[in-house]
Amino acid sequence: MILLITGPSGAGKSTFITRLKQLDPRLEFSISTTTRPIRDGEIDGRDYDFTVEAEFLKLRDQGAFVEWAKVHGNYYGTRCDQIDRMSAEGKIPMLDIDVQGGLQVLDLFGTTGPDLVSVFLFPPSWEELERRLTHRGTDRPEVIADRLQTARSEVKQAGKYRYWIINDDVEEAVGRMRAVIQAEECRSEAFSSLPLPDEGQDGP
Ligand code: ADP
Ligand code: 5GP
Repeated sequence: MILLITGPSGAGKSTFITRLKQLDPRLEFSISTTTRPIRDGEIDGRDYDFTVEAEFLKLRDQGAFVEWAKVHGNYYGTRCDQIDRMSAEGKIPMLDIDVQGGLQVLDLFGTTGPDLVSVFLFPPSWEELERRLTHRGTDRPEVIADRLQTARSEVKQAGKYRYWIINDDVEEAVGRMRAVIQAEECRSEAFSSLPLPDEGQDGP
């Protein structure tokens, strides 16, 4: 399973993902590569792999990314080797990526490959989104204005995602996400065989 999580900047995706990871150790955050300048409090290799544009474009041309996009003027991409490693270790990768990247992943894994659980995370209102972006204190007013404008077009693509979760109270939103994961794990297609031994093999 892969969790694809998209939502406007400031909707609370990082907060939501951090909490999910605390509650379920099988979930692992896919660390994206970006050319965005590092913010105060961020750690290279934990929040993102920060790089320069020339290096990003070289990786892109080598086919190192499952998907990539230019978001708010900076490049962001998901490394294939990260997803492969997590899947090999039995982890569930969580991708925090924008709509452009999300649509690429939906195209890639939508019909074949690992089960893709796509989730669009909404803020409870536009006012609250602006409040969260301002309150976070990481972006200049003009950057916030750009993110709010992008958010308006991003939500228009939300219909392409299988689940919608409103991040009003974070614990409640996380609870809904965990319910979705449990339901997905109970789908008959999620089992590779019957969860009972073949008749005559094990019993008396
Ligand atoms: P994103 O990763 O989507 O850009 P963040 O996780 O950085 O968003 O959250 C943006 C701001 O909103 C942060 O200051 C965070 O602490 C706050 N926040 C996140 N979720 C909630 C919530 N459910 N209620 C109130 N504030 C929240
Ligand atoms: P931020 O700069 O606020 O961390 O992220 C800005 C936007 O980039 C968010 O919408 C986030 O989901 C998106 N993003 C982060 N990593 C990736 C990635 O690897 N690929 C794509 N397409 N978008 C990403």
